[in-house]
Amino acid sequence: MNIQGTGSGLCSGLTRNLIKDFNRINVGSIEAEFQKIGVDADFKNSKLFSGSCKLVQSILYEVSQRFHLPLDVLPPSIRVFRNNDLLDDSGKCSWGFCIIDTAKVLKNEQEFEAGSLFFKKHRFDSVIISGLQTMYLKARNYCSSPHFLAHTFHEWFHTININQIYKKFGYEGEGSLPKAKYYRANATGIEKIEDYADIYIYPQKRRYLEKNFGQYSAETGSLLEMFAEVMTQITTKSLNKNLELVNNPLDYLPKNMPRFLRQFIEENLEI
Ligand SMILES: [Zn+2]
Repeated sequence: MNIQGTGSGLCSGLTRNLIKDFNRINVGSIEAEFQKIGVDADFKNSKLFSGSCKLVQSILYEVSQRFHLPLDVLPPSIRVFRNNDLLDDSGKCSWGFCIIDTAKVLKNEQEFEAGSLFFKKHRFDSVIISGLQTMYLKARNYCSSPHFLAHTFHEWFHTININQIYKKFGYEGEGSLPKAKYYRANATGIEKIEDYADIYIYPQKRRYLEKNFGQYSAETGSLLEMFAEVMTQITTKSLNKNLELVNNPLDYLPKNMPRFLRQFIEENLEI
């Protein structure tokens, strides 16, 4: 499975050296590395997703160490799926998703714990440069960042965010892992998440969001989605072209952000 370059127009953040690195990926050894740190990962032989997840995990670990931010949270499981692997239609149209409660998601698989991540198998998965290019083009006007890792960061930030919410409010679902991890009497975490996912945004603020964080942020009406988009933008901005962390992502938080959103981000980053 060789990666083919398109010759010109490499997408945002993607260099020829990185493409070479992606090409050399051994998916099984990345799965084994994740296993060692407690993440049950099955990338269905995808170099694209295993490489992207590994990069995102290492970058966020470094951010957490250097800038003391709680971003070293890991998803309990990661899966790559095809539409017909899904038990229902809920994840069909998206590029990937994160589950807020423990559930059976894929046919012939066990229940996945809350916070698990799912990535849709890409049509061009065997031609990684095309896959990343497609992601870039898709993200350019719609998402907060055109970086080729943006979608992976976005889903990862959902895991981080829901972990933070359960830590604060507890978890009232049935999943055995989150039940033990976030134990609290009268827990309301799931209820909180549902509230955060459906808020009213005044038109003026919506325009601000669209201008600064893309169309998706403006349209979603969900604080969870805005959190993922803002964090993705500021994290990708803090990387140089070799994907080295050169700045504190928080330096890129716009000063004039709407208060409700700044507050939500600061609360969830414990700052
Ligand atoms: Zn999302």
